[in-house]
Amino acid sequence: MQYYSTNGKAPLADLNKAVVKGLAEDRGLYMPEVIHKLPKAFLDDMPKMRFQDIAFNVASAFFGDDVDLDALQDLVYDTLQFDCPVVKVKDNIYSLELFHGPTLAFKDVGARFMARLLQYFLRQGSSVCGCGTAIYSTVNVLVATSGDTGSAVANGFLGVEGIHVYVLYPKGKVSPIQECQFTTLGKNITAIEVDGVFDDCQALVKSAFMDEELNKHMMLTSANSINVARFLPQAFYYFNAVAQLIAQGHKPEDIVICVPSGNFGNICAALFGHQMGMPVKRFIAANNANDIFYNYLQTGQYNPKPSKQTLANAMDVGDPSNFARIINLYSQNGKLSPEETHKVITSLISGATYSDEQIKETMRKCYKETGYILDPHGACGYQALEDSLQPGEIGIFCETAHPAKFKEKVDDILGIDVEIPERLAAFMKGEKQSVPMTKNFEDFKKFLLAR
Ligand SMILES: *Cc1c(COP(=O)(O)O)cnc(C)c1O
Repeated sequence: MQYYSTNGKAPLADLNKAVVKGLAEDRGLYMPEVIHKLPKAFLDDMPKMRFQDIAFNVASAFFGDDVDLDALQDLVYDTLQFDCPVVKVKDNIYSLELFHGPTLAFKDVGARFMARLLQYFLRQGSSVCGCGTAIYSTVNVLVATSGDTGSAVANGFLGVEGIHVYVLYPKGKVSPIQECQFTTLGKNITAIEVDGVFDDCQALVKSAFMDEELNKHMMLTSANSINVARFLPQAFYYFNAVAQLIAQGHKPEDIVICVPSGNFGNICAALFGHQMGMPVKRFIAANNANDIFYNYLQTGQYNPKPSKQTLANAMDVGDPSNFARIINLYSQNGKLSPEETHKVITSLISGATYSDEQIKETMRKCYKETGYILDPHGACGYQALEDSLQPGEIGIFCETAHPAKFKEKVDDILGIDVEIPERLAAFMKGEKQSVPMTKNFEDFKKFLLAR
């Protein structure tokens, strides 16, 4: 399979290059040239299949041209050693619990898959340098995080030979529990504490990829949801969730999927799933006060803004990276005009935006009515379903993080004492280690050149 750039000015890339480079030469995002439809027989059988086998079928459609099928099966099974169950919260609202992985975040799926895929290419020897002339012994993964990406990537890549990970995070803007999940690991993981906001971290990473001198010095790659190996595997659990709802007797044409969104990688995976034939009615992108996509849906205008700090901090994104992918997908790579594209998008996807006050109110109300503990991200998804479900529709929202990850906030809002799962508590015993950094690219570059 070949991958093209959303900016249309870079050469086509194979999967290996798309994964190693992350971003195309023209700063565009890679898109698969073809999105294979899944056979009807598979879609019919899905409700009877295991999660791992559903995922392997989906993975084969995306990656089967480029990865040996036995290896791909290993890779999928290794990634999905935990469940993503669908839990009924009330009448017509279900929670897709994506927090049963090692760091209690849905990003564990993509991060682990990407680590294993990179390792697969590294083991093949020759070709990891398909994108330059020099041969490098180490691949350096740069990842900007507003909290969850850093911990998932750090843990997904921990101990994987030949790869070093640099996690850039905004000082004082991630929760203490999130912070220890990537600052206490050591080994091949280096945490960098940036004096700025998430967008500054993202800008440093993007500049590093574009810097010629740095790229000659070391092989750099990304692990943000711009990377095809990170975001595409997230389609696995949507198929599985739909299969579970169908198995329970619901009709696919009633199913509404609601995704609390930040960089829009997770919902993008759901939309790719839809293109592959995943049978659902429509999608909702739920946002916190960062309402850039919501405003696009209302007006057709995309106006990125600096991110606002909110209770749902993993969604504090003012210029969502995967917006370009969504536009490219529905414009059929530029064949449709911006107006036509907007029309297609709004016919399938609606939006919602919630203030911190509304998030708190939702968490309290849901807990009181149903006993279900929402985290601030999931709360945006739950409320968007409450606000928009029509009679007969069945809503499923992603509960994107375990509430214990935001323990201080959740305890405070609900007046309870959320239990911390064992594997989260283990991180908190480690010693925090990080490198302080300004938001000035020259400083970051100097640091990397000295490595
Ligand atoms: C990353 C994250 C999101 C947003 O996902 P995107 O793919 O960036 O849209 C939402 N909630 C939580 C808890 C996250 O970690």
